Amino acid sequence: MESKLQAIRGMNDLLADQLPYWRLVERAARELFADYGYQEMRVPLVERAELFQRSIGEHTDIVEKEMYSFEDRGGDLLCLRPEATAGLVRAAIEHGLLHNQKQRLWTAGPMFRHERPQAGRYRQFHQIDCEAFGYPGPDIDVEIVQLSARLWRKLGIQDVALRVNSLGTPESRQRYRALLVEYFGRHRASLDADSLRRLESNPLRILDSKNPAMRELVADAPLLTEHLDPRSQAHFEQFRDLLSGCGIAHEVDPRLVRGLDYYTRTVFEWTSAALGAQDAVCSGGRYDGLVQQLGGEPTPAIGWALGIERIVGLLQAAGIAAAARAPAVYLVLSGDPALRAGLALAEQLRDALPGAGMLVNMDGGSFKAQLKRADRSGAVLALIIGDDELARGVAAIKPLRAGTGQQECSLVELPLRVAALLRDAGTMGKDDG
Ligand code: ATP
Ligand code: MG
Repeated sequence: MESKLQAIRGMNDLLADQLPYWRLVERAARELFADYGYQEMRVPLVERAELFQRSIGEHTDIVEKEMYSFEDRGGDLLCLRPEATAGLVRAAIEHGLLHNQKQRLWTAGPMFRHERPQAGRYRQFHQIDCEAFGYPGPDIDVEIVQLSARLWRKLGIQDVALRVNSLGTPESRQRYRALLVEYFGRHRASLDADSLRRLESNPLRILDSKNPAMRELVADAPLLTEHLDPRSQAHFEQFRDLLSGCGIAHEVDPRLVRGLDYYTRTVFEWTSAALGAQDAVCSGGRYDGLVQQLGGEPTPAIGWALGIERIVGLLQAAGIAAAARAPAVYLVLSGDPALRAGLALAEQLRDALPGAGMLVNMDGGSFKAQLKRADRSGAVLALIIGDDELARGVAAIKPLRAGTGQQECSLVELPLRVAALLRDAGTMGKDDG
């Protein structure tokens, strides 16, 4: 036997029983974005590697070791997108969307990072991404947090907490960076290999270290929030004040830095204790310099991204049910003439009962076998047509769930009768998305 091919490690197949959870999340987000006036955009999964090098930053985990970069047949250095913001900014500039305009945008889809696969951390994962361009905030900073908070409510997710911080301006960060280098430099002997490397390239990332051995040292490091420029300080205070004003609980975490270089001022992260080690469900922040850095006009901007896998994990951990919709009707057809008439009838019923869901029995079988399949399908009604029914121009209707008995109905009246029965059973037009 040939050896079986397997999926790439860290790239998951989503089987049918998982999809209802995904649709739940995607539909809730889609509805909320529409409610808040955010428009959907879709950009390619592949971009020039340079786009991510220039936006995310050379000395970040993503660019240093997580990018799926490759040379294509034309010799261009390309990359599977590790995140959505850079591509959206590229597209917004390219299509002039930021020229004297503000934009509220969203997108969703797969992202690719060559990370060590583990629960909640994959190499192909999926994000929903929210971005606002042209608004200096802090009002919009609050709005995008409100949107995320409402998404949790809509989905019934409770165990999430919001941490916020301000990264200031590039200038204030530069001054703070010098303080950090000085501090960690004094404790060089206690730094792990990752942190030593970051000390030269990106010392702020040391604060984000996931190594418990670094915790104490990080705890005593100077705090960014104590070295903010006055305008960033005011922005941060107003952001927090407005958040509190709309009842969004949050905690200031002066060590919250984001894994990407482009952030300025507001940063935030929603985490959940229900998730274990990979506890970040949604992360975001302001990136006022990025549009200009990628060749556009200076444009303030802010956004967040949530990991769909982790949200789905939360829904499942909370025992929230999501199941695919069962078909409402199962058509049992016995004999060639009935098959012929039945296939045509099925289309008429689908015209008459859109959204009901109808399975037509395939590949024959005895009445008994077909009815067994009908039952397993979860359908509410079985419609049965054999030679005898066909000769009399009727179908037998067998309720599969309720206790009521079987009845007959002429084929002409069948759509109306089925609609009435389904209405009584409360299953018309139900859709899981
Ligand atoms: P983490 O600290 O978990 O590595 P991150 O800072 O790299 O997250 P972002 O780049 O801000 O994450 O991405 C936003 C969200 O996408 C995260 O909050 C998380 O929910 C999700 N996410 C990030 N990387 C992965 C991954 N490899 N697999 C699954 N989800 C991910
Ligand atoms: Mg990461």
